[in-house]
Order: sequence, then structure tokens, then C-alpha cells
Amino acid sequence: MKSYRRELTFNTSHRRDYINITPQVEEALRESGIREGMCLVNAMHITASVYINDDERGLLNDIDDWLEGLAPHEPVDRYRHNGMEDNGDAHLKRQIMGREVVIAVTGGKLDFGPWEQIFYGEFDGRRAKRVLVKIIGE
Ligand code: ZN
Repeated sequence: MKSYRRELTFNTSHRRDYINITPQVEEALRESGIREGMCLVNAMHITASVYINDDERGLLNDIDDWLEGLAPHEPVDRYRHNGMEDNGDAHLKRQIMGREVVIAVTGGKLDFGPWEQIFYGEFDGRRAKRVLVKIIGE
């Protein structure tokens, strides 16, 4: 069995951002040489998510509005977590959007359903943060 590991780094210009990282994951898969197996992609920080959904502007705005409705960034003093920091909302957003995704690898490709794309969801950006790509198989 082969094993491959790569870290991707993102430094978004906004506090919150939603980035389609499918091309970077596909590049990692090509580099791995793995044809059959599993690909794990996870955020390495507890204020960011990796998730799969449609790359459609309306949906991305809907997701952001929905998360802000559930856990608004402001006022920051509504969160008990916010003592030294102001990212209480970001921890809650990450919790609901998830830590990781796993995608089957078939014939050297990510074996997606219709319209599936991999996203990095940033909820406390403007600093370098990492995503782990781990691929195992043959
Ligand atoms: Zn925090």
C-alpha cells in the first residue's frame, strides 16, 4: 500500500472565506500516483472547515448568511470563549461545517457525485492556516 501526505496553506484576506480547493487536491492525487484508495482532506485548525458542496455563488452566500445567523461574529462579548481572542463564533461555525471529508479514489480520480466540490471554509482568517491531504491506496 502507498501512502502520501501533503499540507496546503491558506491565508485569506477576509475573516471568512470559502475556497474551492478541488484543483489542489486533484494535483496531490496525481502526484501520489495512487489509482485506487481513499483521500482524506482535513482542516488542521479548529476555526476552519473542509466540506463538500456545490461551487455556486448563491449557495456560498446562503451558507455564510446561515452561519452568521447561527453564530454571529458580533457582538464578540456574547461568547464566553472570547477572552484573549474574538473567534468564539469561528469555533461554532467550524463545528457545524465539519473538520474533514473522505473521497474515494477510483481509476486515479476523485470519485465524486454530481456537482461535488471540496471547499476550505475559513472562519477566522487573515493568517496562514493549513489543510492536510492524506491519500492511501495502490
Ligand atoms: Zn479561539
